[in-house]
Amino acid sequence: MVELQNVSVTYSGGVDALNNVSLKINDGDFAFVVGSSGAGKSTMIKLLLKEIDATSGTVTVNGYNLSKLKKRKIPEFRRTLGFVFQDFRLIPSMTVYENIAFVLRVLDAPLKYIRKRVPYVISLVGLHAKTNSYPDELSGGEKQRVAVARALMNRPAVVMADEPSGSLDSQNKEELHQLFFELRKAYGQTFVIVTHDESLASMTDRTIHIIDGQIANP
Ligand code: ADP
Repeated sequence: MVELQNVSVTYSGGVDALNNVSLKINDGDFAFVVGSSGAGKSTMIKLLLKEIDATSGTVTVNGYNLSKLKKRKIPEFRRTLGFVFQDFRLIPSMTVYENIAFVLRVLDAPLKYIRKRVPYVISLVGLHAKTNSYPDELSGGEKQRVAVARALMNRPAVVMADEPSGSLDSQNKEELHQLFFELRKAYGQTFVIVTHDESLASMTDRTIHIIDGQIANP
């Protein structure tokens, strides 16, 4: 569950990026956060990852009150999340398999578990045939599928994405969102997808419009 209560973020230059925002995204919701450039979308994602803190108000994600979360607890909190970046952030010298396995390696997961889990998530995102390919041998859509598989490795309760289809053509974009919907249907994760693409708003039951740092449809 993701909840913002009366949250404001004022940057040091005095810009009010979010202004008294309250919203709740329930477990299993598929939420799009939509707004034009400068509306406050990235600020919201940074808040939810605890990359920045609210100037006032309370942010709760997966039962963690982020306003009160101690620095040493941040890694534990982030392990409850999956995150998909717009620019994929794959490691060029690693194969698809290695890019995905890497997530669990850094967490010291047992090798036996990694060997079982990696092929499973690769098949979930439909990339079985590319298991041993390197990122520069993949299309943009395939790279983003690897990034999604990587985000799912840790069985996150919430998957967040900042403009995940931003660098994809319209067909790959459509396929990526279809994949998100399928995963949500099958596994019931919560999805929070930030996008400036208003056309996506009609695809889901939950669209949060941000305009000038405020929620347009609370
Ligand atoms: P979006 O992601 O919707 O484009 P942002 O959350 O990036 O919007 O920005 C919201 C507002 O906050 C904008 O006016 C932007 O210029 C400002 N802003 C964003 N990051 C910073 C920062 N680090 N310092 C000062 N102002 C910022």
